[in-house]
Amino acid sequence: MRKALKVLIKAVLTAAVATGILLGAAHYVTLPVTSPGMTGTSLKREETSVRTNLTGKVKVIVLVDNEGYVKGLRTAWGIAMYVETPHARFLFDTGPDPTVLKYNAGRFGVNLSNIDFVIISHCHGDHVGGLPLIAKLKPGVKVYVPQHSGLQNYVRGLGLTPVLVNKTTEVAPGVWVLKPLYGPPWEEGVAVATRLGLAVLVGCSHPGVDRIVEVAVHDLSTGKVYAVIGGFHLMGAPENIIAEEMDNLASLGVVKVYPLHCSGSEVKEYLRSKYPSMLGVGGVGLELTFPASSDCG
Ligand SMILES: [Zn+2]
Ligand SMILES: [Zn+2]
Repeated sequence: MRKALKVLIKAVLTAAVATGILLGAAHYVTLPVTSPGMTGTSLKREETSVRTNLTGKVKVIVLVDNEGYVKGLRTAWGIAMYVETPHARFLFDTGPDPTVLKYNAGRFGVNLSNIDFVIISHCHGDHVGGLPLIAKLKPGVKVYVPQHSGLQNYVRGLGLTPVLVNKTTEVAPGVWVLKPLYGPPWEEGVAVATRLGLAVLVGCSHPGVDRIVEVAVHDLSTGKVYAVIGGFHLMGAPENIIAEEMDNLASLGVVKVYPLHCSGSEVKEYLRSKYPSMLGVGGVGLELTFPASSDCG
């Protein structure tokens, strides 16, 4: 009963956001997938060289978010994170439009022409809207999308290379795209190995942030999750849902939680009162640095 209520509330929240706030959300959801499945070559690791980050750090920079945090950066409804590891540079989601992504990346000195690939969490416009900038800066670059996201033709139409994901896949040493779950819509998170444990990045968490983290714990041998960063889709959600998802994260051993984007203030209040040491504060410009995992850099 509790699960059914949770699913219903999630569906209502999703519908409200998809129809009201997000750019082009419904449009992308309805696009057909013409040739599902990943190709043999697409499942292989990216051929990234060890040229990138020689400092042995994993860096996560929130390039786009609707929450202000660092002065001088633009806010916009959506999220985009730039990630640098000893072996790869990539973008997780792209925000709602190319201009905000370009402006904030410029302020940070992040050269998006140097990324190795893009990972898109799900089809909503506030996550895919910056892709035209990537198409201009890095034509043909791989864009990992959930298999049933309906994004394949859109991504290809931009001159980029869609790679459909249907199971947890290592796309660079120490970087995994997590098996997509159905919210709706289909959504995938990312896990990055650090010496402290995994950093799990999430877009909107329509399937539930705890369920996405469970995929990382279940599918990866390094199963310990240190940090969870991104949108939790709990804005205006009832307290019992917030409590259930945050309690689940705590029991999964998560140490730090950074609620961004569509997480809402209620989840921050809950964490502040029940798990104060877990709560991480952030918004656009948040920069997190972790020591790199010893077995990947
Ligand atoms: Zn969103
Ligand atoms: Zn969404």
